[in-house]
Amino acid sequence: MAKLKILKVGDSTLRKVCRPVDAITPRILRLLDDMVDTMRAADGVGLAAPQVGVLRRVVVIETPDEGLFELINPKIIAFSGEQESEEGCLSVPGRWGVTKRPMHVTVRALNRKGETVDITGSGLLAKAFCHEIDHLDGKLYIDIAKMIDN
Ligand code: ZN
Repeated sequence: MAKLKILKVGDSTLRKVCRPVDAITPRILRLLDDMVDTMRAADGVGLAAPQVGVLRRVVVIETPDEGLFELINPKIIAFSGEQESEEGCLSVPGRWGVTKRPMHVTVRALNRKGETVDITGSGLLAKAFCHEIDHLDGKLYIDIAKMIDN
């Protein structure tokens, strides 16, 4: 396990569309482990593979209430409601912005065993699903946020 370098806004890798994972190889499992280490070391709620320079559809999320999610090829399959709240990103250090996101989001993904799982999250978890899946399509929250000047 290792801590990886997190790319910062301005790096063109963050603007690329990631390719799906077609086989869960030892390399993908190692990527998940390293992403979890990196996210925890940076005190983040989520991390997407392109943030560590890997253009694959892989995301990790950890919230205090719901625990750890390791998602491969995640897709939003349902959403409802709306929340307006502060958001930040490990690739945009020291800045915050207010975004509008759905309040409830259901994601379908593969877990590390290759099983298809559907997970419904609300509030922070719903926001994290949207934020991290956006990364896989080269989108950053600063594209849609009202930034807070400090
Ligand atoms: Zn981010």
